[in-house]
Amino acid sequence: MPELPEVEVTRQGITPYLVDQTVVDLVVRNASLRWPVPELAKQIIGQTIRQVRRRAKYLLIDTDAGTSIVHLGMSGSLRILPHDTPVEKHDHIDLVLANGRILRFNDPRRFGAWLWCQLPDEAHPLLEKLGPEPLTDAFNVNQLAAALAGKKKAIKLCLMDNHIVVGVGNIYANEALFAAGIHPEAEAGKIDIERLTVLVAEVKQILAHAIKQGGTTLKDFTNAEGKPGYFAQKLHVYGRGGETCTLCGNLLSETRLGQRTTVFCSICQPR
Ligand SMILES: [Zn+2]
Repeated sequence: MPELPEVEVTRQGITPYLVDQTVVDLVVRNASLRWPVPELAKQIIGQTIRQVRRRAKYLLIDTDAGTSIVHLGMSGSLRILPHDTPVEKHDHIDLVLANGRILRFNDPRRFGAWLWCQLPDEAHPLLEKLGPEPLTDAFNVNQLAAALAGKKKAIKLCLMDNHIVVGVGNIYANEALFAAGIHPEAEAGKIDIERLTVLVAEVKQILAHAIKQGGTTLKDFTNAEGKPGYFAQKLHVYGRGGETCTLCGNLLSETRLGQRTTVFCSICQPR
């Protein structure tokens, strides 16, 4: 599943081909995504794309008339292709540009979304309650400590809660807690400020590194062969239950927390 780094790398990859381009057509072959794709053609054809932003895992393609809100879901991908590229299975939407290229949305499992928003997008129901972006200064130890105050929930569940901070999916929650030496089931409200400071720094560092790495491994958004795969990263705990800890050699423990696989080292991450 694309996580925040993959979505950010997608944004960086497609932006140069979209900005300042006029939309000449919108082809929707299958509107049955996670939510029905609205009738957009009237609003979007003739508009010029101003910028491509990201909020959490949503890509926001701005025009003067409104914003396309795109989510890759479980299996979605976006590519920039020549307009006459043959259509393949699961190619649900093409945004056709004046420069002869298309932005093509492919999504085998159809948990992705393509919506439209004329409001200021911060007011859109999908976006308005989101917490701060992890890579901005709005996510900091004071904000996190305030958000966790009095919370008895496990820290890992809080870290994956979009109201507290966005874009920290299961992989990165596992990795950041390992890097910070915090047990994933530790009671969120009882973690001291020193350890939260380390946790904030690790979340930022791990996501920034993943984006940087993705920029080198997933740079080709203009290739019709092979859809962009989501990049494999060097992980210390995620997917390594029962293997040895990279720091101490202890066997990593695996449990379920909020229905998500949780891997940790009981020595390096004491309760
Ligand atoms: Zn260890």
